[in-house]
Amino acid sequence: MGICQVRLLPSFLNTAGKHELSDLIRYLFEEAPEDELSELFAFAVELNRENYGGRVFFRGLIEFSSFCKNDCYYCGIGRSNVNAVRYRLSEEQILDCCRKGYALGFRSFVLQSGEDGYYTDDAACRIVSGIKELFPDCAVTLSIGERSYDSYRMFFDAGADRYLLRHETADEAHYSSLHPPGQTLKKRKLCLYKLKEIGYQVGAGFMVGSPYQTCETLAEDMIFLRGLQPHMAGIGPFIPHSDTRFAGFSSPPSKMTLILLSLTRCLLPKVLMPATTALATADKRGRAKGLSAGANVVMPCLTPRDRRRDYSLYDNKLCTGGEAAEGLSDLRRQIEELGLKPDLSRGDHADFTDRAEMADTPAFSGAEQKRSNDYGKHE
Ligand code: SAM
Repeated sequence: MGICQVRLLPSFLNTAGKHELSDLIRYLFEEAPEDELSELFAFAVELNRENYGGRVFFRGLIEFSSFCKNDCYYCGIGRSNVNAVRYRLSEEQILDCCRKGYALGFRSFVLQSGEDGYYTDDAACRIVSGIKELFPDCAVTLSIGERSYDSYRMFFDAGADRYLLRHETADEAHYSSLHPPGQTLKKRKLCLYKLKEIGYQVGAGFMVGSPYQTCETLAEDMIFLRGLQPHMAGIGPFIPHSDTRFAGFSSPPSKMTLILLSLTRCLLPKVLMPATTALATADKRGRAKGLSAGANVVMPCLTPRDRRRDYSLYDNKLCTGGEAAEGLSDLRRQIEELGLKPDLSRGDHADFTDRAEMADTPAFSGAEQKRSNDYGKHE
């Protein structure tokens, strides 16, 4: 590819058709020499430096329910998994997770769950507005699946800032091979467009190496992201869960996820993109590798410790070390060692924030580090 070509990638990705994109992805997966991939990853990091000053934003993740009415074939908490341990956090428990997170310095919370109707629209609004009342300086992200336009509107009016809903795959046939008939790509896409229209910072995304994925379906993912222009993209490896029909499939080599992270950074230079727990689970050095390939978000877990294991999307999901809020100071050190800047502020998308304000935001302070060291003791 050469330095010159790497710099041409953003404009190529913004105009290329499906065949050109799938050829590029295939080339990067199968043929590109190590030094070209290193160049690609370094360019992706440079784009994060240009847009966010090399900051890596922290989100406190609260996995508040493992009940799900859906049955995605890849997911360990799908409704037909009789071995899954189900739990729900009460509204007070969720607020308590935020209190702990706030004390640690988090100013951005992600509330994720299976699609659980137990949390009615009113309940979800109460939770969001409860967090906003306690912590008006924090951003709240919801990741609770598909709901109606009116529900999304209510959550937004209650104070939710962002919504994560991975599209999973932008190819119809592939979507049908990953989901039961009631779940459709059309509905998924519609939700994402509705969320954008309402004014959320919206996150789409997909698993890398999911069963039946091809370079062609990945090209469609790129084209879909190009059209949607999401503010966030969740891209992590598929990892099999032993109680699902995909138990016999395997995870892809990390290289594939890193390539797609860096291509997505080139396509959407301002996107907020986590180095996912799945990547850290599949590869001991996954988080560092992801951040060195254009990811700029980490999401340590604030879920109560006795529940973490039960939010079991895939086998061996990490919930300790840098993946847990207790490991905050280690995580900060790791990020600094990569030449990046840990940042616990709200971490809005560049189009939603005043750049001057960002420049003034102090990076993770010493006091926060101390609180992080103390966290485990108080839980
Ligand atoms: N219910 C919400 C939704 O549908 O968006 C949020 C929860 S859902 C479990 C969060 C994400 O986990 C999914 O979007 C999916 O991409 C990911 N996930 C589920 N099973 C996985 C697996 N086996 N390997 C990797 N990621 C997985």
